[in-house]
Amino acid sequence: MTGPRAACELCHGAGGAVLWQNDLCRVVAVDEPGLPGFVRVVLARHEREMTDLPAADRDRLMAVVFAVESHVRKSLQPDKMNLASLGNLTPHVHWHVIPRWRDDRHFPGPVWAAARHDAPVPPARAGAAARMAVTLPAALAALGL
Ligand SMILES: [Zn+2]
Repeated sequence: MTGPRAACELCHGAGGAVLWQNDLCRVVAVDEPGLPGFVRVVLARHEREMTDLPAADRDRLMAVVFAVESHVRKSLQPDKMNLASLGNLTPHVHWHVIPRWRDDRHFPGPVWAAARHDAPVPPARAGAAARMAVTLPAALAALGL
């Protein structure tokens, strides 16, 4: 493999535990114990920007992102949802889908900002996030994405 894919961690690995996938993308659980319910939607192939994708693929990818956001919201009832596509370190199209709570470690900053406290995540929230990850595949499958 040569070119940008050679050094791309999202071409070489899943980027987390795969919860669901289709031909276009995969949904992975992010292993961040302080941020329960954090998932990513990762494009299956290497593309740098959303505008490098054909319009039909952009629409399909965003349909998955929004379906994931809906499922996370319904399952966890966070105070806010954060959607982000950065890719400065890993320039391979992926979306972060992050439930936020007023008492989470980084709130109201982005999750990449310095933590404001280190209080533990409420156990009920961690449990709900684990259940959300279990029910997410069927919820997405039901949509026929
Ligand atoms: Zn890549």
